[in-house]
Amino acid sequence: MTTSHPVYAKIDGPIVMIGFGSIGKGTWPLIERHFEYDASRFTVIEPDARQHNFLRQHRLNFIDTSLTPENYREVLGGLLEPGKGFCVNLSVDTDSLDLMKFCREIGVPYIDTVVEPWAGYYFGTEDNAARTNYALRQRVRDEKVANPGGTTAVSCCGANPGMVSWFVKEGLLTLANDLGHEAAPESREDWAALMRDLGVKGIHIAERDTQARLAPRPRNVFVNTWSVEGFIAEGFQPAELGWGTHEPWFPENAHRQETGCKAAIWMERPGAITRVHTWCPTPGPQFGFLVTHNEAVSISDYYTVGEGHEPEYRPTCHYAYHPCDDAVLSLHEMFGSGTTQAEHHILNEDEIVEGIDELGVLLYGHEKNALWFGSRLSNEETRDLAPYQNATGLQVTSAVLAGMVWALENPDAGIVEADEMDHARCLEVQRPYLGPVEAHYTDWTPLQDRWEMFPEDIDESEPWAFRNVLAS
Ligand code: NAD
Repeated sequence: MTTSHPVYAKIDGPIVMIGFGSIGKGTWPLIERHFEYDASRFTVIEPDARQHNFLRQHRLNFIDTSLTPENYREVLGGLLEPGKGFCVNLSVDTDSLDLMKFCREIGVPYIDTVVEPWAGYYFGTEDNAARTNYALRQRVRDEKVANPGGTTAVSCCGANPGMVSWFVKEGLLTLANDLGHEAAPESREDWAALMRDLGVKGIHIAERDTQARLAPRPRNVFVNTWSVEGFIAEGFQPAELGWGTHEPWFPENAHRQETGCKAAIWMERPGAITRVHTWCPTPGPQFGFLVTHNEAVSISDYYTVGEGHEPEYRPTCHYAYHPCDDAVLSLHEMFGSGTTQAEHHILNEDEIVEGIDELGVLLYGHEKNALWFGSRLSNEETRDLAPYQNATGLQVTSAVLAGMVWALENPDAGIVEADEMDHARCLEVQRPYLGPVEAHYTDWTPLQDRWEMFPEDIDESEPWAFRNVLAS
């Protein structure tokens, strides 16, 4: 294990961590390593008794309660101190916007890894359009417009959403360099123009998680490498993607959005059973699931030239996720049976015997066809880098660390997403935790991995059309 770690900042006042699941548990040691703070003023809010033993063993202060719309102001108000400290939200079932607004009201920096709603929202809302990440994100964007500037609140700063937005920028600079294209983008407009000028038609957040344990998955247990609850919730949201200007076709079961940035569309189908053709370095061509994610919307929005439904340029962007094999089987069992498994299990770093989380961005459609840029972190390496987490966890927690450092260095930046942060500074902080970060070109296109015996309805004139990416 590395012995000396840079201390990036001093945090005066209380640090409150909301939620101490797989991500909270992995973030705490990074906070301990990289910030100077008073440990007696670090408090966790965690309602699940299964996490309490660990908290007790490590002598961490905790409050055994669930935040709710009724109690959050009182609970947080009792712990936080105006103008000081930090609020690190790593929970499920808490409304990110409400918590962020409260922190900004009292001048406390805030960070989360997803725009989460209060408990009950994902399954209690009948209107599918309202269950999209577009709708959840737009509330945060509207708040940014209504109350610009002020105390920094970093929205959606995990691995994805989060780090992958920094990879998009690093990937664009790599591509520009390899094409001999001079580039020194500074503003959002510069970045969007660069992506357009490089001929990028779209981006897959292309992930392959090969982490596995020795024992086969028991039937009726949902196994994953991060929050099962979080994955089920997002997997049941409608499939959703940023919709690019190169698309010659529109899916029959899809809807546009009528308010807000209009960068994304959603489909009448759960994301976790919507398969797409994609590519990662380890497997080459593979199926991924088109699970909705904030970054699909934010990246398409950030790189738009023009506005509305018919901008001059916009990239298509979506998640193409091959979770660990046990999670694929768990999804298969869950959707097939029509009921969610009662037992959930997150694979921990000690039971995983092999595998990596290969998480990157596939920038496609340009002169060099496609470039995958990302982290290929193994569980084995993770165990040497930081405790209490697997490779998936460390990609997330190190992004939280980078986001906290950036927030402390930019205390009055208002509400920001990862696309709007200094990607070079954030990656500088995060990179020691990412294992090999690599760029791979490929000549693969979605037209290539087809079974000729069963001809499909594809568009040969535009290899990178979403029509070809979407598996039938
Ligand atoms: P987890 O399920 O392991 O832990 C979540 C914790 O939140 C649990 O311990 C739970 O008891 C606690 N919690 C539930 N309701 C609460 C409430 N009302 N108040 C306070 N705490 C409450 O999940 P995880 O894997 O640690 O993920 C945490 C969050 O991070 C999730 O929202 C997940 O979607 C998100 N996440 C983001 C990324 C990313 O890359 N952006 C990756 C992984 C996870």
